[in-house]
Amino acid sequence: AWSEIPLAPPDKILGISEAYVADANTNKINLGVGAYRDNTGKPIIFPSVKKAEQVLLELEKEKEYTGITGSKKFQNAVKNFVFNNSNKDPNGKQLIDSGRIVTAQTISGTGSLRVIGDFLNRFYTNKKILVPKPTWANHVAVFKDAGLTPEFYAYYETSKNDLDFENLKKSLTSQDDGSIVLLHACCHNPTGMDLTVEQWDEVLQIIQDKGFFPLIDMAYQGFASGNPYKDINLIRRINELVAQDKIKSYALCQSFAKNMGLYGERTGSISIITESADASKAIESQLKKLIRPIYSSPPIHGSKIVEIIFDEQYNLLESWLSDLDKVVGRLNTVRSKLYENLDKTNYNWDHLLKQRGMFVYTGLSSEQVIELREKYSVYATEDGRFSISGINDNNVKYLADAINAVVNK
Ligand code: PMP
Repeated sequence: AWSEIPLAPPDKILGISEAYVADANTNKINLGVGAYRDNTGKPIIFPSVKKAEQVLLELEKEKEYTGITGSKKFQNAVKNFVFNNSNKDPNGKQLIDSGRIVTAQTISGTGSLRVIGDFLNRFYTNKKILVPKPTWANHVAVFKDAGLTPEFYAYYETSKNDLDFENLKKSLTSQDDGSIVLLHACCHNPTGMDLTVEQWDEVLQIIQDKGFFPLIDMAYQGFASGNPYKDINLIRRINELVAQDKIKSYALCQSFAKNMGLYGERTGSISIITESADASKAIESQLKKLIRPIYSSPPIHGSKIVEIIFDEQYNLLESWLSDLDKVVGRLNTVRSKLYENLDKTNYNWDHLLKQRGMFVYTGLSSEQVIELREKYSVYATEDGRFSISGINDNNVKYLADAINAVVNK
């Protein structure tokens, strides 16, 4: 009977927003959800996106379904953006031209993770997926629900507020050959700490030695450097290894939620890099077979915005790149303002300056986070992750004072 169904716990991140809304303190700050806010604390629509929507309003003549895996125009725009990398990645271009990349539009990054999870569960022999500790909580939930077995590899040492690279290598090496391994392309969520080029090379060597299947999640492309074409070192390096036949296949989950601000439009993609054009055909047909009974086809508004932004005739690419650069610039400014205002006598805050993206991973304990919430109305997840777009000129001093008080207690 329905009455026997147990109550499920609320989503950790969304639960924080609810508590924030209910708080009457006018100084309250929401550092929970990873969505951009401007310096007045409001969400924005990228001006380039607004312009693309105006083009759409003029030109759109129908609201027909797109294909199960989205439109060819969207797929080609994504391939060109991510793999050809503005004509800077000859290996990626070669993979596109030889038909070795299957790209499908998905329901944003989460949808793409779920589709590839289901696909791997159906067609890949090894069900173990190695994910960094810590990782975005939904990774574990998505892969479990897709029938895979997530297991952590070492990534970050909270006591040192730094990467734990030696243990990362050890824990990957000790895993079963042929496992799936999840890599964050840049702006690792929640720590904001990425590997260097040299460290990626070492990890890619382990991946080759162990025959792992690399699954890359790229939700924050552009948020590390301000330029999406620069944040793609991992993809370019892996394409080089594919060109040398050292890695045969990998998959990339990609989202426009953050870097075009298309959050609720649910626009992203899955790309599978295959061994041959023939393999691509079969894989594409199986992706269609898998997606059709779940949601039939993806939504069209966001993907049409993406198509327009990448379509040269509308001249919007440069404005988008500059919109994104401004967003990232503001995040970097508040990051350093927070750092400036923090008391470094009893706590070393230098890790803040090494972290990139939408978050700072403070290293505060869950007790300290709860104290910030209860005494100062500062809302963040209990792992000490702060979504810094909630910080602005008006509240950075209040926030730093609150943190200083809690740390120096
Ligand atoms: N991967 C990571 C690491 C994320 O942080 C997010 C968003 N929080 C996503 C994927 C997916 O986001 P979306 O479904 O909104 O594209």
